Amino acid sequence: MTPEMLGQTGAAHTESPLQLVILNAKVATDDPSLYNIGVRDGVIVSMTNSSEPTSPADAVLDAAGRWVIPGAIDTHSHINQRAFEYDHVPGLGPDDNFAVESRGALAGGCTTALNYAQFGSASLLDAYHEGLAAAGEQSRMNVLFHGYLMDMKHVEEIPTAVAEGVTTFKMFMPYRGEEARNLGGIGSLNHAQMRDAFAAIAANGAQALVHAEDGDIVDACMHHESTRGLDSLAGWERSRPTIAEGDAAWTAMYLAEEADCDVTIVHVSSLEAIRARDAVKFDGSALESCVHYMVLSTDSDIGPEGKVAPPLRDPALAEEITRAVLEGRIDFFGSDHNVWPAATKQDWETSKPGLPGIGLMLPLLLTHLVHDRGMSMERLIELTSRNAALRFGLPGKGLVALGMDADLVVLEEGEREIKVDELHTAVDYSPYAGMTLRAWSHATICGGTVVFADGEFPNDDFRGELLNHRFRRAAADV
Ligand SMILES: [Zn+2]
Repeated sequence: MTPEMLGQTGAAHTESPLQLVILNAKVATDDPSLYNIGVRDGVIVSMTNSSEPTSPADAVLDAAGRWVIPGAIDTHSHINQRAFEYDHVPGLGPDDNFAVESRGALAGGCTTALNYAQFGSASLLDAYHEGLAAAGEQSRMNVLFHGYLMDMKHVEEIPTAVAEGVTTFKMFMPYRGEEARNLGGIGSLNHAQMRDAFAAIAANGAQALVHAEDGDIVDACMHHESTRGLDSLAGWERSRPTIAEGDAAWTAMYLAEEADCDVTIVHVSSLEAIRARDAVKFDGSALESCVHYMVLSTDSDIGPEGKVAPPLRDPALAEEITRAVLEGRIDFFGSDHNVWPAATKQDWETSKPGLPGIGLMLPLLLTHLVHDRGMSMERLIELTSRNAALRFGLPGKGLVALGMDADLVVLEEGEREIKVDELHTAVDYSPYAGMTLRAWSHATICGGTVVFADGEFPNDDFRGELLNHRFRRAAADV
């Protein structure tokens, strides 16, 4: 991008002071000079050379030459998807989980969560309404709720959900029986039901998301591993082999293509889903991956706390996924942040699958891809915000430029060890504890408000935007 495209406006000729000015910001453009970024009403309204005088502003933040990049968009989180027996634990209950986890996200430079409504087999609309209410009261970050389709009753709810602002619907392929019950009532659709669901989603102008692991293969492999005794991350990996992901991803994209329904394969853990996309060649498909498939593996010494589905893979495959990301074969990242406490992750058989990590997604990607592998900041920004913004109907996010939403992160660079008690989350363990970060958030801005700076949460009465409201259809259109 050139400075001309950024539209150097000079001082703004408006009456009221700016909401915020960020001084001396290093931004991802061809021009190495530093910028002063002016914000009004949550939008970037000026970007001037840092040597020029700035307009008066209610708040001033000096970036002192640090990188200023868009806040991350986490395309996959499960804030408020609770283990109900821990509702009494501070931070893990319905009255404060969104408050605590959204602060943790902001402390890590993530300003927008594409969060799943609480899973269950009852009405999707009820779960969505409850999610909106909890996030509206508590969330310090922007939230866009994903819907889901556990059964055909949920498919019937699609038109109403879309009218009320839901633009995405997740389907599951692996979970059945006992495993589904353990996860709070997750249900999977069979292939015939998926065909109907893709058609219904497309007819309503929405998008599909698919957890792609084939249930037949997972059932058979899990039975085999349980019989011989599940006691390692390698055994858990064998219970959900990469072929199950490839098989399911191929099926999902093939069926979505028939309905011409945009589909994202979520949390891609192996090359098999990538091969499936290359084979089906449906241009409405996208691939989401997670940082844990690159920086953790079956060799990570984290015991059953490392259980997640799809599973962590062996170190060679983790390296191959990194290479696939560098080659541009993954479109965006989700954290798949789960809020299960360590107490639910003690035993190999019964541990709940799922890892915490919304606040570490951006710092770990900056460390692993930019610091360690030399990825450009422009490309990192595409992977952590811009691509997701375009995919999910948020074109004002994911760029530091005039007219864009002022969701921003000022980066600190150096060396910092990950410590659980510095993560501002209610989850009492981290699979990344002890790792070294090379970049993290010095300050985070959401909607033009400084919501995190130097380990503190100023303006804690700020609430993020409920982005589904942007997609609600007027009653007359329904
Ligand atoms: Zn998930």
